Amino acid sequence: MLDQALSQTLNRASRSARARRAVESFPVTRKVVDRFVPGETAADAVAATRRLIATGRTVTLDVLGEDVLDLAGARAMRDAYLALLAALAEAGCAAGADVSLKLSAMGQALPGGTTIATDHAAEIAAAAAALGCTVTLDMEDHTTVDSTLAIGTALRASYPLVGNVLQTNLRRTPGDIADLDGTGARIRLVKGAYREPASVALQRKAEVDGAYERAIDALMSSDCHPMIATHDPAMLDRAVARALAAGRGADGWEAQMLYGVRPELEQRMVDDGHRMRVYIPFGTDWYGYFMRRLAERPANVAFFLRALAHRSR
Ligand SMILES: Cc1cc2nc3c(=O)[nH]c(=O)nc-3n(C[C@H](O)[C@H](O)[C@H](O)COP(=O)(O)OP(=O)(O)OC[C@H]3O[C@@H](n4cnc5c(N)ncnc54)[C@H](O)[C@@H]3O)c2cc1C
Repeated sequence: MLDQALSQTLNRASRSARARRAVESFPVTRKVVDRFVPGETAADAVAATRRLIATGRTVTLDVLGEDVLDLAGARAMRDAYLALLAALAEAGCAAGADVSLKLSAMGQALPGGTTIATDHAAEIAAAAAALGCTVTLDMEDHTTVDSTLAIGTALRASYPLVGNVLQTNLRRTPGDIADLDGTGARIRLVKGAYREPASVALQRKAEVDGAYERAIDALMSSDCHPMIATHDPAMLDRAVARALAAGRGADGWEAQMLYGVRPELEQRMVDDGHRMRVYIPFGTDWYGYFMRRLAERPANVAFFLRALAHRSR
């Protein structure tokens, strides 16, 4: 109960400019953020990529930043992804890498945003495809789902490896899986990081977990490429069993986890012969991402407060 209240507060704080200024001004924050965000520059992201590839993992990279307010911001974000892809190629670690895009950062919410975001994402998808990389469109709050799925479908006509994300807290997701079956799309399955109203989303964790299990089953028996993105070992065990039952080999699906959350579980998946992709966010605009990670697991707040207390001693 207390955890739920704290989680709601943190989710609200993730959208508050005042809370943002306060958290960013704690001198210790950067040190704690490092656990989830390995750096601010493309060079930092490439260095983290190298380290992870050396341990048998693959990566998906996210340039942090959401909700750009003008066309110049959206173009700057597109350019940041193009520069990232060039840096990966330069370092010899582009092949097999994925980049995760938030369409809100590509201009989706601007007037004429669907065309702007689609064009920016298409430029990134073209550059990625030329280097043997893939692109995944992150899913944001429920008001963006129709648009994000439609943009994914449009992009796959030219770039078949562009993936979409589905959130099992949303009531619509079983229908979306059924609609995507037959397209062969790469689909990342997540529980959902955004606080959503009961009219569109399941509210209890047990319900979201149950929906996640059913969605694993549906995706594994579809023709989509399932990307099971969770730190929940019970869900991963289920994915392993269902992949086996569906006759999917190591190339037929993958697990995904966020950088720094459960490295030991990542390693277990690698050691067991499964494809394991780590989501690496980087950049200066880490606030919203960091606060959502705290909201997901209020125990992380204790970690943050301990670091603060230690610092003030
Ligand atoms: C690769 C990847 C991409 C994602 N992309 C999106 C997206 O596009 N859109 C979206 O809405 N959401 C996305 N998410 C976030 C997702 O929706 C969940 O909010 C998040 O993964 C927590 O849910 P869980 O499945 O790990 O399970 P939970 O049931 O929340 O957690 C299971 C266990 O994992 C551990 N754990 C979970 N979160 C944390 C944490 N922050 N810190 C420490 N331990 C933790 C804990 O031990 C916990 O008991 C993504 C997640 C991953 C892994």
